[in-house]
Amino acid sequence: MSTPTPTPRASSLDTRDRGNLIGGCFVSGAGAPFTSHDPSRDGAVVWRGTSADAAQADAAVVAARRGFRAWSRLPYAERKEALLRLAATPPALLDALAEAITLEMGKPIRESKGEATSLVAKLHASIAAHERLPDLALEGAPGTAAWRPHGVMAVIGPSNYPIHLMNTHVMPALLAGNAVILKPSRVTPLSGQIYVELLQRLGLPDGVVNLVVGTREVGGVLVAHQDVDAVAFTGSWDGGRRIMETCLDQPHKLLALEMGGKNIAVVLDDAHLEQALHEIVLGACLTTGQRCTATSRVVVTKRMAASFVPRLEQSLARVVPGDPFADGTLMGPLATLSARRDFHAALARAESAGAVPLVQSRAVDGGAFVTPSLHRVESNAAADVLRYRDTELFAPDVALEVVDDDDAALERACKSTFGLSLSVFSAERARFDRFVEAAPWGLFNWNRSTNNASGLLPFGGMGVSGNHRPAGSASALYCSRVTGVLEKAAGDYAVDPLFAKVLSS
Ligand code: NAD
Repeated sequence: MSTPTPTPRASSLDTRDRGNLIGGCFVSGAGAPFTSHDPSRDGAVVWRGTSADAAQADAAVVAARRGFRAWSRLPYAERKEALLRLAATPPALLDALAEAITLEMGKPIRESKGEATSLVAKLHASIAAHERLPDLALEGAPGTAAWRPHGVMAVIGPSNYPIHLMNTHVMPALLAGNAVILKPSRVTPLSGQIYVELLQRLGLPDGVVNLVVGTREVGGVLVAHQDVDAVAFTGSWDGGRRIMETCLDQPHKLLALEMGGKNIAVVLDDAHLEQALHEIVLGACLTTGQRCTATSRVVVTKRMAASFVPRLEQSLARVVPGDPFADGTLMGPLATLSARRDFHAALARAESAGAVPLVQSRAVDGGAFVTPSLHRVESNAAADVLRYRDTELFAPDVALEVVDDDDAALERACKSTFGLSLSVFSAERARFDRFVEAAPWGLFNWNRSTNNASGLLPFGGMGVSGNHRPAGSASALYCSRVTGVLEKAAGDYAVDPLFAKVLSS
């Protein structure tokens, strides 16, 4: 297929390796060299640098422990005031951050700008949530309930929202008094470094914010470290599973795991067809299907299928990827060339096992560009086809199933191994409510895309999508631990008659 013509860009982005931020100083990595790549320009190198090694990850933990002592002793009002300086970030720095995100993982620049400008909105939402932490001392309690920071939190970020999904943990963690060590995806080290430069401008004590760049091995050092109190991980189920394994002998360590999705949009008989179509195509294609909340399964009832499926085919077949820096591009490339290879290999396996291609994905020259696809999964499908249906491909593909009625659709939702974001398209609220009541999912959308969750509500998944530590407005809850503080004034005690004799002898 023809190449999307790259838009000529006059860029002054500084793409040098800033190193790792440890105890307030940027230091060069002592580990292996690695590079990041522009997936919209045939994988051209964007950034060249070196990974932190295990000793540097260890040094970051030591620095964070020191930073934690200083930071957690500050009154909350002072921490909040310091963080609010984020609002004064120069727009040019946010623009640089957005450009780095698009360069390194290929999402359209308008999406990256949204990601960069959401940093401050997340801070304000985190403040509101922190200040509403519930008072867990019940009436008549002999003391108070106090929310305390954990200490050192490792924040491990994914490739698709490389900054927003670290910031979403960093803001509530810092407000609560924790120190953080960030480990961005190896796909987006430059974006991670620019984000941390921006945090450095806040003038927080040294060691409160630290950064190590590199592969999952560097993240693994942080996860396993005895002096890391909590891990906020956003990534695949595979990564989250390994992190749980690593921490089996550290039950005290808090793990907040935000993992993958194979999100279902259910289209019932009485759905508004155009609305369902709009939301589903958007859900499948935004960020080239690389959102944890992307729509990747559609379950449509038989009566609706005859009119809906041909429209879905036509719409998906019309979507073409484009230069992410061009205005009006709906969908950029996948984040890496290897992600494209993996995507097409998975589709080839699914098709040879019996998944019926209604729209086939094609590679588009010039980068990791793909067109979306749609595959029908029959009710008597082979095990390998069901495996395709139940595996997150993290690309713009929809597995389509036609079912008899609401009950059959509900059964599909209840049996899903992932449980992040579920949509139901129906004119009737009661039909949607049946799903909310019975299906084990974290987010429910009535006549809305599975995408576009709100940071003003709890966010998180069930099943292999998450571990019951919802983020979004609920992240303040896991960024602190609650303790009971029982108290009496000196001299305020009544002698227990059983002990009086013992004490007087
Ligand atoms: P990934 O799991 O490959 O990597 C995510 C991050 O974790 C990277 O920084 C990586 O280096 C690190 N990592 C991976 N395994 C690790 C381990 N064993 N120990 C320590 N660190 C480890 O994921 P990705 O490809 O970067 O991101 C895509 C995935 O993230 C998809 O599955 C997507 O659904 C998921 N995701 C989930 C959410 C959510 O909120 N639920 C949001 C965005 C993305």
